Amino acid sequence: MPNHMINRRALLRAGIVTGGLLTGVASAGTAAFARTAQPSNTAPDQRPATPAEAWATLREGNRRWVDGTATHPHQDAARRKEVAEKQDPFAVVFSCIDSRVAPELVFDTGLGDLFVVRTAAQTIDPLVTGAAEYGPAELGTPLVVVLGHQRCGAVTAAAESLHDHKKLPGELDTIASALRSAYKRSGGDVDKMIRINTIDVVKQLKKDKLFAPRIAKGRLKVIGAYYSIDTGEVTRLV
Ligand SMILES: [Zn+2]
Repeated sequence: MPNHMINRRALLRAGIVTGGLLTGVASAGTAAFARTAQPSNTAPDQRPATPAEAWATLREGNRRWVDGTATHPHQDAARRKEVAEKQDPFAVVFSCIDSRVAPELVFDTGLGDLFVVRTAAQTIDPLVTGAAEYGPAELGTPLVVVLGHQRCGAVTAAAESLHDHKKLPGELDTIASALRSAYKRSGGDVDKMIRINTIDVVKQLKKDKLFAPRIAKGRLKVIGAYYSIDTGEVTRLV
């Protein structure tokens, strides 16, 4: 059996386990679903198919978020049912762990819309890259967005640690090490460092063995963007 088949099954199993854990919640929701019985407001065939369509959908969602007109799509029981057996997200969003930068909220999306990968300051290593690769390589997800953000605490802590030559405790220092290069090129300006690091991660992902051929064929785009905590706006960097 090819490896990717095993992986797919393992992930499916993981989904079933999650469903099992949530059974109590699901059955409580069934009555509400029967009462409201609204169709999910986006049919599967409307899923953005190209990198440009996927980015346009994210931009529209972000616009609603900024304007305070979010529609919270795909967050009802009908959608839960629709994606229970199969998922087909249209984008991977790789962002920071920051509690103020929740991708589903920032882009006004819901269940089954996004693969979300999050690490402090969206720093990357092989394990994280593997998580980002899954959607594009296995399901044909057409877009990867690396999302840096304003006032990133992880970047700020790393900049201070690198400036003072003082190691951060535990594995936090691994994050600082991953940001060393961006720090050097930022001249100590934290906001500049956030943007440089975001673009660095995009460059790294573009070179990825599974991504590069898909990018060359126009089937995948990896872009970098910046999230403003003050306004809620996502601005494309690269
Ligand atoms: Zn952050």
